[in-house]
Amino acid sequence: MDSGASLQDYCTHEAEVNPQRGKVAEVVDQVENLALVLAAVRTGGLRTRPELVRELGLGRNVISQRVGQLLDLGLLDEGRLAPSTGGRPSRQLRFRSEAGCLLVAELGATDLQVGLTDLGGELLDQRVERCDVAAGPEPTLGRLEQLFDELLSARPTGLPLWGVGLGVPGPVEFSQGRPIAPPIMPGWDAYPVRDRLSARYQAPAWIDNDVNVMALGELRAGIGRPESELMYVKVGSGIGAGLVSGGRLHRGAQGAAGDIGHVSVMDDESVLCRCGNTGCLEAIAGGYALVRDGLAAAQSGRSESLAAVLAKSGAVTARDVTAAAGAGDPVCLALLTRSGRLVGRVLATLVNFYNPSLIVMGGQVSAGEDMFLTELRRTVYGRATALATRDLRIKTSPLGDRAGLLGAAFLVADQLFEPHCLARWIESGSPTGHPELSSAAAA
Ligand SMILES: [Zn+2]
Repeated sequence: MDSGASLQDYCTHEAEVNPQRGKVAEVVDQVENLALVLAAVRTGGLRTRPELVRELGLGRNVISQRVGQLLDLGLLDEGRLAPSTGGRPSRQLRFRSEAGCLLVAELGATDLQVGLTDLGGELLDQRVERCDVAAGPEPTLGRLEQLFDELLSARPTGLPLWGVGLGVPGPVEFSQGRPIAPPIMPGWDAYPVRDRLSARYQAPAWIDNDVNVMALGELRAGIGRPESELMYVKVGSGIGAGLVSGGRLHRGAQGAAGDIGHVSVMDDESVLCRCGNTGCLEAIAGGYALVRDGLAAAQSGRSESLAAVLAKSGAVTARDVTAAAGAGDPVCLALLTRSGRLVGRVLATLVNFYNPSLIVMGGQVSAGEDMFLTELRRTVYGRATALATRDLRIKTSPLGDRAGLLGAAFLVADQLFEPHCLARWIESGSPTGHPELSSAAAA
């Protein structure tokens, strides 16, 4: 729950259905300002008490009390005197990101990245390996847990685990922490990923669609830092978008917002998508489509360079297609520009609809040859309205592969410090040992 109104509804509801738990509602009320002050220091760049008073519109006493509580809780500390601006000099506040650690992971179609971060998204340790998500949840999560266990044993002594975050390549029902009918993840439909991880690690866990997680990474640690209206678009094997509006991820009612890969862009019923439908954007413009069409061009001999790749390696990858396009192969050039044009058309619609100030392009196809982005930009600027494109920037992701792991850390930290969640663990001093927090926060 994000808004003030829903917080109030929640408190009233709690008090009515369970008078004992009305106490929780009281704590939530007090914690709201605490969460506000913490967020201002943690993500808002505010450093001193006078800045907090000025920017948050709260009284000096309230700020002073809340900062005192956060210092006692070990969530903030204070250091050097800030440069004086005329009045009494004040000490600089800092979020204590070293108070705990997080286990984070990014599950792709063919690889698995896991990491250990602090609460501020600083990557302390990581592992990357090949993995086939289509093998199903048991072997995949079994291996993920082995890697998580390794990271935990190697972590600095005394660093408590505060939470677990995971991005997966498919639609996720966020409130329940499980994938729903993911096209490239057979066997994962409604699998309780969140509950399995939170029970194993006795800490709250959150899972989300991989592109949402990457959008958060770019928003907090990448090129999106000063922006509040951005879209992260991944063009890899599949295609998806993470939408940020008003500085927050827009997940929609169930968590499905931004799933643009299955927008219909063609009536041609012969192009079957992995979701079972026909004419979907990713079935024609994604990396998976480049491989299919590239292989056909190699086999028919229409592309000499891909035929040579196929003869040598026995396969054609999306990277082979983009590389051949870069070397001037006309068939691959046509495939890549078609991709850029079709993705660009869908993005032009989204630009008219959402009016973002920044589109961050990620994924293997976007990172390939310039002609994909050139065609995409030409289409977006040519088709979206003048006002929506006046200050629009379209950039490639500077974080690259790291966006997912960093985003997973921010996913967990953002949830832990939401007032509802904070209220439930604040008296214990930390969320360690409270696996129920992730399901309670979403209830
Ligand atoms: Zn589809």
